[in-house]
Formats: sequence, C-alpha cells, structure tokens
Amino acid sequence: MSADVSQETQETQETQDPDDIAAIRESVRALCARFPGEYWRKLDRERAYPTEFVAALTEAGFLAALIPEEYGGSGLTIRAAAAIVEEIHAAGCNGAACHAQIYTMGTLLRHGSAAQKKQYLPGIASGKLRLQAFGVTEPTSGTDTLSLRTTAVKQGDHYVVNGQKIWTSRAEHSDLMLLLARTTPADKLAKRTDGLSVFIVDMHLAQGTGISINPIRTMMNHATTEVFFDDLRVPAENLIGEEGKGFRYILSGMNAERILIAAECIGDAKWFIDRAAAYAKERVVFGRPIGQNQGVQFPIARAYAQMRAAELMVREAARTYEAGRDAGEQANMAKLLAADASWAAADMCVQTHGGFGFAEDFDIERKFRETRLYQVAPISTNLILSYLAEHVLGLPRSY
Ligand SMILES: Cc1cc2nc3c(=O)[nH]c(=O)nc-3n(C[C@H](O)[C@H](O)[C@H](O)COP(=O)(O)OP(=O)(O)OC[C@H]3O[C@@H](n4cnc5c(N)ncnc54)[C@H](O)[C@@H]3O)c2cc1C
Repeated sequence: MSADVSQETQETQETQDPDDIAAIRESVRALCARFPGEYWRKLDRERAYPTEFVAALTEAGFLAALIPEEYGGSGLTIRAAAAIVEEIHAAGCNGAACHAQIYTMGTLLRHGSAAQKKQYLPGIASGKLRLQAFGVTEPTSGTDTLSLRTTAVKQGDHYVVNGQKIWTSRAEHSDLMLLLARTTPADKLAKRTDGLSVFIVDMHLAQGTGISINPIRTMMNHATTEVFFDDLRVPAENLIGEEGKGFRYILSGMNAERILIAAECIGDAKWFIDRAAAYAKERVVFGRPIGQNQGVQFPIARAYAQMRAAELMVREAARTYEAGRDAGEQANMAKLLAADASWAAADMCVQTHGGFGFAEDFDIERKFRETRLYQVAPISTNLILSYLAEHVLGLPRSY
C-alpha cells in the first residue's frame, strides 16, 4: 500500500496481530499483487470467473483456512480467515468468487457424519472439490427462509427434490452444493423452525438429470444463478445431520459468515481510503492539491474513522467467536458497521476522484459496484437491525 494512511493502518494491524496472522497478511498481499486491476477489469467486462486467482488461493492453502488439520486443512482461527479475506479486498481483488469455500463447509464440519467428513473435507481442503454453492434463497420466500418451498421427499434410499433457488452464486463453478430444502410441509409442523433439511448435492451427477442452471447477469461480476430442480434424486446418505433440523444447522454457520463478510468490507474500505488519500495528495486543481481543501479532506478522514471503528467490532466479533461464546450480537454488528463503512468509503472515493471515479481504468467504479452488494447480501441491513432490536434490545418481534 502506498499512501501514508495505509502504512499507519498496516502498522496498527501489525501491533495488534499475532505474528502468524501478520505473516498470513503478508503472504496474501504478495499473492494478490500478481492479480492487478487489469486482471479484474477484463473479468468484469466479460463476466468471467477468476479461475487463476481461485487456483492461486487454493494452492496457497488460504481457502482451507478453517478446515481442521486432520482433514488436510490449515486449522486456522476465524481471525486468520478474516485477515485473508480482508487483505484480498484491501488489495483491490475480490473474494466473492471463492469466499464460500472457506465457510460453507462449516455446516458439514459441525453437523456432518464422520463418513461424510472423511468423504468430502480432504477434497475441499485440497481444492479438488469446490464447495462454493449454497442454495438457500428462493424467489418467493426471499429473506423469509422458513417459508421456502423447494421440497425434498424421501423415496426409498433417495430424496427427490423439486423447486427453485435464486441467487445461488458459483453454482456453475462448484462441484458440490449445500442445499436447504423442505422435508416436512409447513402445515404439519409442531415447531416453525423444523421441517427443513440440508443436503450435499453432487453438481456433476445432478447436471442434466434434475438440475438446470441459468446465470443471472448482475451489476457486478458475481457468477450468480438461478437453479431449477426437477425430480433431482439425492442419495439419502447426503442428508447432513438429522432430517428437519437444517434451519438450525444453517443458522449455526451464520456468525462465521458475517465475520468474514465484514472483514471483506473492511478490506474494501481500506482500499477506497487508500486510493482517495493518494489521489487527493497528487491531483492539483486551482494551483494546489485537492486534498488541501478541508471539503475534500474531511470525508476521507470521516471514512477512515468509520472504518477503524467497524474494524474494532470485527475484531471483537472474531475474539468472541474464537472464545466459543455466542457471537450473534457482535457478528451482526460487525457486518452492519463494516458494510456501512465500505459503502461510505466507496461513495467518498468516487467523489474525491471527480470524473475519474467513473472511469473503468481506475477500478473505483468496479469496486463501488462490488461493495454495494454487502448492504443486501448475504444478509440485508434491515434484517441485522431487526436482529439487534429483537434479540439484543428485547423489542417486540416484528415479523
Ligand atoms: C449477487 C448476489 C449473490 C447472492 N448469493 C447467494 C447465494 O449464494 N446463496 C443464497 O442462498 N442467496 C444468495 N443471495 C441472496 C441474498 O442472500 C438475498 O438477496 C438477501 O438475503 C435478500 O433477500 P431478497 O433478495 O429475497 O430480498 P427480500 O427478502 O425480498 O427483501 C427485499 C427488501 O426488503 C427488506 N425487508 C424484507 N423483510 C423485511 C422486514 N421484515 N423488515 C424490514 N425490511 C425487510 C430487505 O431488507 C430488503 O432490503 C445473493 C444475492 C445477490 C444479490
């Protein structure tokens, strides 16, 4: 990172991070330096998958960060995994193509059988198996996961799946998909949160025999799709954990996901602040650097303060998670504050660059589009606020 502000941020990080995490940051930075803006711009234009980048991260072992060593992973902490994704984003790269490989396996790790873990985790750790697709959201139910309609009906030693998912990212680039489907009709449930189950779907076996995938073109390069299930047969042995408990299993992975997504937002915010501060020093208008005007300085300073505050919450969430305590409050706040910080920094960065903020070659408009997503996915800001209001502050349930 070139600007002084980044150097300061880096130093603060290095005084706070243990040596192993500082070393991980350094290696991720070195890897990302091989994938400069031109690489991402080309992919963005073509809406293409960053195959080489994902391969490099896999080869370096970064995507196996959270898989225990006994299954061939690195057995690192959530703080280390957060440092990895943060550095990817702070370098101007994008982890969206592969971040799910880091955390989606958590459901399998926590709730899968010994045989399932032995069958899949080593392959996921080595990168031979990509588990990057996570089919939860549906067109009709949206955020209301408990209303989802895709069904999995047991017939002998198989489940037969019918329905539709939307926004299933990386479905075309994944060997396996974690699928949440209804195994008990909603009107036959004693408990609202029961009745959904999680399955591992082998995408190669499924293609052409019950699954069809349509890419959805979005405002940024995200490899997201809609997936249709038409009598897809999934072996009963691919059910994870107990039938009907899938919603709970998915929820149990949400805190890790929120922390890692928040770390990506912090990385984005650092990238925007770095770019803006550097440009404000060198761009001369009216005979002086634009950064000499307080009207230009203050938004950069504000974005920096906002990012640092959010970063503290991300670290707090990671520490709470690592200590084995319930990190729901901290993880949700980390995601909320970090997504706000990255979006504020993105807006500030475009403004600081004037017209050049819109020029493709500067990468700012690309990162601006990319970071906008975090206000909506994987969880929208409103739903986090609703969690805090209800579960932390004890306000009445709103939905
Ligand atoms: C690029 C992209 C990639 C994605 N990848 C995946 C993926 O891999 N797997 C997957 O399963 N999903 C994925 N998603 C889906 C994502 O998680 C959802 O889009 C997100 O959770 C919001 O759901 P929704 O789009 O159905 O919005 P809706 O539920 O229709 O909500 C629309 C708006 O209304 C607000 N809202 C709804 N209910 C309430 C309420 N009770 N109170 C206040 N506000 C409310 C929401 O906050 C939101 O802003 C992805 C989405 C995108 C755009």
